[in-house]
Formats: sequence, C-alpha cells, structure tokens
Amino acid sequence: MRTTVAALHAELVRYNLVVWTAGNVSGRIPGEDLFVIKPSGVSYDELTPENMVVCDLDGNLVEGEHSPSSDTAAHAYVYRNMPDVGGVVHTHSTYASAWAARGEAIPCVLTAMADEFGGEIPLGPFALIGDDSIGQGIVETLKGHRSKAVLMQNHGVFSIGKDPKAAVKAAVMCEDVARTVHVARQLGEPLPIPQDDIDRLYDRYQNVYGQRSPR
Ligand SMILES: [Zn+2]
Repeated sequence: MRTTVAALHAELVRYNLVVWTAGNVSGRIPGEDLFVIKPSGVSYDELTPENMVVCDLDGNLVEGEHSPSSDTAAHAYVYRNMPDVGGVVHTHSTYASAWAARGEAIPCVLTAMADEFGGEIPLGPFALIGDDSIGQGIVETLKGHRSKAVLMQNHGVFSIGKDPKAAVKAAVMCEDVARTVHVARQLGEPLPIPQDDIDRLYDRYQNVYGQRSPR
C-alpha cells in the first residue's frame, strides 16, 4: 500500500490537479484499522514508499519518520465512518474548486457524469481545518449519494473509492467534468439529462462497461 499510494501521487501531478504540495492520496490497509497517507510538506518528486506514513483510524501516527498530511483528520474520519471506502483523495484542482468557491454543485449535464457520478457532484459545507468538521461534511454529503466526489465549499475536492486508484480516478474525472461544464456555461445554459436516462447510464457503466473480471 505504501508503494501504491506513493505512485498514485504522480497521477495528481500528471493530470494537473495539484500545485506545490496541496493535494494528497491515502489508502486503507486491507484487514487493518490503518491507512497509508502522504507525509506533510514533502514535494511530489520526493515521495517514495519508504517516506509514506501509516496512521490509525483516529489519525494518529503509527509508523513513519515524517508527520502525516495536514488533511489526515479528514481522511481518518472518512475511513472510520465509511467502512467500504478504501481510498481517499484531496485536491484543490482549478475548475472543481471554482465551483466550490461559488458554492455550487456541478449539475449532471454530460453522459460521462452520469456514468461516473450517477448525477450531480454535490456541494459540501464550509468547514475549517483543525477538527472533524471537514470529515463530517464529506461523510454527510457522500453517504447515500452515488457521487464519489464532493466539492467542499470555498475549498476543493474530496473523492473516495473502493481503493486509492478508484479515488484518484474520481478526482481526475471530477476536474474534467468541472472544466467542461464551466466552458459550456460560458455560451449558455447546459441541458439537463432526464433522471431515468441518468439512471440507465449509471447502471450500464457501473455494471456492464469495461473488462469482466475473471470469476
Ligand atoms: Zn485542502
């Protein structure tokens, strides 16, 4: 998991989701009440499996020479309260954060959004770093929602997945659709997709699309 989480940070850079050190990936260690997360303040070029840090589900450092990411409390809160989540990603990616700055959910106006998110990408509350407020906002917004990403108001994106790779994919797709819908807005009002079509697209993409895994 150290290797996986260290390597996935390169995807945040590759897809232009982060600047400086403002973004992080974590992954739950299967079968343990532990997760691996980025060390605080270490640049993406310097991340290695060895300098990743391991925390318990209260966000306490268990293993590692560096202190954990300043967003660790939010990641830990999600793992404590959403047992099916195996990966969490946080970014301030530009277009998605612009929607967050306006306090606006991204409406479902693209089939790719229906596929990946099953509807709009919802807006979470304004919350300050320092306690469980951000984690609570993420969990309250995403529990019972199809979307694997939330726009935290005036802040940025948190995304979740069954594993860290899936959470990174959701962060990448979130920024992609945030940009396209933003561009669409420049020349008019994007057309909504009817709910029953959203449901059909979501069901097909989640259950039929892609390579079948061997039984
Ligand atoms: Zn942040």
